[in-house]
Amino acid sequence: MAAAPQILIIGGASVDSLRAGGQPLVTPGGGALYTAVAARKAGGDVGFFGMRPDPLPELFHLAAREAGWVGPPCRLEDIPHFEIVYDDDGSARLVNAVWGLEDRLDPATLPDELLEAEYIHLAAVHDASVQVKFIERIRGRSKAKISAGTFGYMVHRSPDAVRALMDLCDLFFLNAFEAETVFGSQHPVVRAGQILVVTRGADGADVWQGDHCTRIPVCPSRPVDLTGAGDSVCGGMLAGLAQGMHPVFAARLGAALASITIEGPGMHALLAAEPSEVPQRWTPLVDKRVTVDDEQVEAVARLIRDLEDVQPFDFTGPYFPEPGDPHAVSWFFAAIKHQFGFWMPYNGNWAASTYACWNGQQLKGSDYCFAAWRRVLDDHPEYLSPLGHVSVRYNAFEAIFRDDLGRTPLPVLATHYNLAINYGRDMHQMGWTPETLVAEARLQPRPVRWLLQQLDHLPGYREDPLRKKSMLLVVALGQRPEKFIELSEQSDVAPIIDYHLMRSCFRTGLVRIDDPELDRLVSARRLLSPTDENALRMPCFEAVRQLSRRSGRSIAAIDWFFFGARSRCPEVDAPDCARCAIDAVCAHRVSLFQPVYRTTFY
Ligand code: SF4
Repeated sequence: MAAAPQILIIGGASVDSLRAGGQPLVTPGGGALYTAVAARKAGGDVGFFGMRPDPLPELFHLAAREAGWVGPPCRLEDIPHFEIVYDDDGSARLVNAVWGLEDRLDPATLPDELLEAEYIHLAAVHDASVQVKFIERIRGRSKAKISAGTFGYMVHRSPDAVRALMDLCDLFFLNAFEAETVFGSQHPVVRAGQILVVTRGADGADVWQGDHCTRIPVCPSRPVDLTGAGDSVCGGMLAGLAQGMHPVFAARLGAALASITIEGPGMHALLAAEPSEVPQRWTPLVDKRVTVDDEQVEAVARLIRDLEDVQPFDFTGPYFPEPGDPHAVSWFFAAIKHQFGFWMPYNGNWAASTYACWNGQQLKGSDYCFAAWRRVLDDHPEYLSPLGHVSVRYNAFEAIFRDDLGRTPLPVLATHYNLAINYGRDMHQMGWTPETLVAEARLQPRPVRWLLQQLDHLPGYREDPLRKKSMLLVVALGQRPEKFIELSEQSDVAPIIDYHLMRSCFRTGLVRIDDPELDRLVSARRLLSPTDENALRMPCFEAVRQLSRRSGRSIAAIDWFFFGARSRCPEVDAPDCARCAIDAVCAHRVSLFQPVYRTTFY
């Protein structure tokens, strides 16, 4: 291996003999090899370190090439051999296992140059102590995120050893049965900054980011053999994370890989998969009821290419810190996590926007929230720190948002309070401050991507796979006069999908709702299901990304232009099309509305 791969998988390969009636089928196997091949198929830059038979039998040629397999030479009989029998009901039984010498894989033989990898995954081997020894060799010598997996036998024999192993890792993978053995009926204990994935067969997988859990579904498939499914989730997820994805989207990529693996016996289907198959499988996010209108995107892109009105906001003004304020970075971290939920439902419908009377003016939700935090900056700057967040009592928190009339019109105040407490707690536990995070981001080759990945661990930011608040924070830090962070790598800056942008996408026709029933629900401003909300929001993300690429205008500029829709194309009053710069190409679907859905994302 000339240079370090981005993802290094350490562990073993095996020879698997599969029998379902007639002649056995012999296939390459082993958790590490499955993980490495899946990561490669998901577009990862992968290397695999494990004992390598010399000469390498033809059985392994293709897998070895995909996985970038290097490691100490051994005899073929020194790697594990498994015999698996499939019963008539499709269940698999391990009837014979010869473990070989995989436990003798020695951390001292791991070449130093491989430690440059960004992610190092220690696949389950026969004995957890081997994984621990590798971690001891890697920690302190490598900046890599360390990941590990386990398997039933190890969990059954020594759940404490598995817990101890997990404690050493940044990411950990196990299945539902193993999780129950290790954690009992309790929720797993996942520390701040750590990611745990619990695969649940047909029920999908749980992605834990600290104590926050998201259930992701399986990808549709025609299962033949479930061997390697969990390892494929792991490989796909590592590839997704290495590409900068949010953990939930990375896990969905893993689910896509698993759906491929299980459609053939052993490793056959995974090895045969074409690279183009993976994105096609990754379809749970694509709901055909709502589509990006390509021609309309092109028309709007042409129009806004040279439009004067399309300019980014610099995040200054009466509700923001003065340029040069020493608390500005902490303030933006603290304030932007509360940019959500400024509306009230009634009887299953959207009923009203949030307004507050503030210094004699009526402020709409987003401005009101920023104004409230500006008051914190003036009166209680000590609240802005991580420990300040933790120490604020509920009554004091409520007072932050109290308006001229002594009311707190924030619709979901308790949710805001919980997020604030958890934000302070986790940031403190991780030893972070907003200032140290931004300072470290500035040292990275891709500061935006790096900062987004840290925010994926932070309550208030980590929950949304589309990273609306994280991206708003990054753009604010980059657009401020102080230029806290460099935004020049535009490919790392993604659309900021909030209410106003979605309403604009539907009304302008950038996004078409082709399903009459969904169109009716959106027009009637009915409360939506999570599936409907997801169906509507994802195409808006894609439409705005395309709009930015085709128009050459930055995400920051497009976002601020469409944010202006709250006044010219508002929720309650009739749109003021004569004042709107895109009137000439707009589809004028003015009955359409943003998704009515209670979330902390936007
Ligand atoms: S104000 Fe009128 S022209 Fe502008 S986006 Fe709304 S409906 Fe279209």
